[in-house]
Amino acid sequence: MITFDLDDTLWNNRPTIMNAEFETRKWIEDKVGNVEWGDFESFLELREVLIKEDESIKWDISKLRKEIFKKKLSHIEPESLRNEIVDEAFTIFINKRHEINLYDGVEESLKDLSKKYILGVLTNGNADIYRFEIGEYFKFAISSFDAKDSKPNRAHFDMAINKFKDITFDNVLHIGDDQINDIFGAYNLGIDTLWFNDNNEDWAQDFTKPDEFSNWHDLKNIIKNKYE
Ligand SMILES: [Mg+2]
Repeated sequence: MITFDLDDTLWNNRPTIMNAEFETRKWIEDKVGNVEWGDFESFLELREVLIKEDESIKWDISKLRKEIFKKKLSHIEPESLRNEIVDEAFTIFINKRHEINLYDGVEESLKDLSKKYILGVLTNGNADIYRFEIGEYFKFAISSFDAKDSKPNRAHFDMAINKFKDITFDNVLHIGDDQINDIFGAYNLGIDTLWFNDNNEDWAQDFTKPDEFSNWHDLKNIIKNKYE
């Protein structure tokens, strides 16, 4: 079985999220006038406040986003109107969030690998792989919402192997970009890993760096040489 992270592993997520954020804020402001969105620091503070009120916001990032919109629009009355705007804004956001450009070679690699391996998705984000054509190559997808937890914790990995009778962590390769969430999380469970290192990052962990790649066109041969 091969499991894949999504954001920044199958596509570059920054432009997607920036655009989704920008377009959604613009839509909201066209509707209700200027909103004080605050900086990243204040976002993190607000997130902590919301988590204290509702623990599930830790792993339900869609709910987190809606709750943040509600706080930012707290001056909009009545509440039913505010909630309506928030729901619509979230729909816009989540649609824009699925406007992605796959890294070159992703589609061919997945198509190829899916003929030999069970492919799955393990993501902390809220992108739905089945909204894309490449969804057909994946047997399953597990998000933080499904796992009620986030990588690097083990819930995603446990759920993945529990879907199949004969698969243990020894039979899994996990591929992702994040040194902690993907590589450390999987490594802790004895899962083989491949690090997608598109930005030429330095390895900063205190265990041995796994094999890495930065070009999806190389993936098929890397896997072939390692396992076949
Ligand atoms: Mg990632």
